Amino acid sequence: MSDPQQVKSESPAAYRTAEPVLDGWFTLDREQPHLIGTRCKDCGSYYFPRLTTFCRNPACASETFEGVKLSRSGILWSYTSASYTPPPPYVANDPFRPFGIAAVELAREKMVVLGQIATGVDLAALKVGQNMELILEPLDDGKLTWKWKPSMEVAQ
Ligand SMILES: [Zn+2]
Repeated sequence: MSDPQQVKSESPAAYRTAEPVLDGWFTLDREQPHLIGTRCKDCGSYYFPRLTTFCRNPACASETFEGVKLSRSGILWSYTSASYTPPPPYVANDPFRPFGIAAVELAREKMVVLGQIATGVDLAALKVGQNMELILEPLDDGKLTWKWKPSMEVAQ
């Protein structure tokens, strides 16, 4: 099995210029990537993915939002392993390789954001409540996506 970390270090130029899997969902800062969400200008509620229609807070009638960079660290709230090939139209790797999915509660916003777990992380070693940080990794098609990686640093 090829090691994606190895591929990354062999082609840094390709990695730097890689396209995001979704436009505008995260910054392309390789060292300090942030997910991009929105914040209600009236009640301050955070949303990810970006919300631009009307605030979901039942006590708020606002329709104005501002784009914000969300916290790039948080606490592992839950996680699981996707051990079976998802059905079409999902384009699975061939052969399929299981991958982890983490639900992380963002440090400041206190909302839970799903993402794949970084390549090479041992799921058996993960513990709910531990610190996680956001990173960018290429998928098999070379496009960048966000993933969650265990962090030694205190969430902020
Ligand atoms: Zn609101």
